Amino acid sequence: MASAEIIPGIQVVRGKFASEFGFIASYLLIDENEVLVIDPGTAGDPGDRLERSIKNIGLNPKSDLLGIICTHGHPDHAAGASRLKKSTGAPVMIHKDDAELLQTPSIFLNERLMMDRAERFSMKFDKGPLRVNYRGMEADELIVNGQNISVGETTLKVIHTGGHSAGHCVFFDIKRKALFSGDELNNFPNDPRKFYVDNTGSIVAKLTAIETMSKLGADHVLPAHDSPHIFADAQLQFQEVKDGIVHLQDTLLTLLSARGDADIEQLVFDIKQARSVPIPQSYEALLTTTLHVTLIGLKEAGLVRELGNGIWTRVG
Ligand SMILES: [Zn+2]
Repeated sequence: MASAEIIPGIQVVRGKFASEFGFIASYLLIDENEVLVIDPGTAGDPGDRLERSIKNIGLNPKSDLLGIICTHGHPDHAAGASRLKKSTGAPVMIHKDDAELLQTPSIFLNERLMMDRAERFSMKFDKGPLRVNYRGMEADELIVNGQNISVGETTLKVIHTGGHSAGHCVFFDIKRKALFSGDELNNFPNDPRKFYVDNTGSIVAKLTAIETMSKLGADHVLPAHDSPHIFADAQLQFQEVKDGIVHLQDTLLTLLSARGDADIEQLVFDIKQARSVPIPQSYEALLTTTLHVTLIGLKEAGLVRELGNGIWTRVG
């Protein structure tokens, strides 16, 4: 089976199991005789199965596929775009702040995750489906906050969230009350409180985004990594994600108080030791950038300050 209908007019195409990241989901939104692909997946996975799924529902990938829209530019969501565009001709759409990632994929490890050489090396040779060494492409259309995209009778609203990465967007299907939440919610399949943001992300934007998303009246949340949550209570999911962020902020403040001052490496170590925060296990860089961006958010709130040389302390 290439795809499965989860809500009338919405199909999920699951990628291969990608360890901690679970099954990465691509979605097809179908109305009348038009289809939109939301997150084409990794470079090669689900690959051809996206086109096959479109054919299986009786549509033509070359003439009925309106576009390939990416929630953000990370390689598990957007790397499949160029391959699908090549075989279908459909335009690739992404927010301008993540378009650079689509164009130059190496930015992901080097700048967005600030990975060191050893970690970059291990990730490039990872045997899992999450390929990071692939050729980039230029976006065909830059999507903006508030934009409406029509698929048949369906209106899909673009909401720029910018929490998980600077250009992250979520898409709200007004007719089905379904929210395609990408990585802004349920970043990992096993715990909604566990998340990471890349170096361009923002904790302040993430909290604001949760507030915005919780007011949409969504009945279904369709995350990119966590399809079992589709029929869970949407409001509960927003609350859980928010709780996770607030708990991380509180824990960081407590650790900084205890230490007096500390750099990121120290805080990464302390957070792991504390064990009360659910953290990504697969790559240390995911935790490092998350802590960095969280500290910047706390700095904006006047709760911490940087002493120089990457040393942070509490204010007051
Ligand atoms: Zn992501």
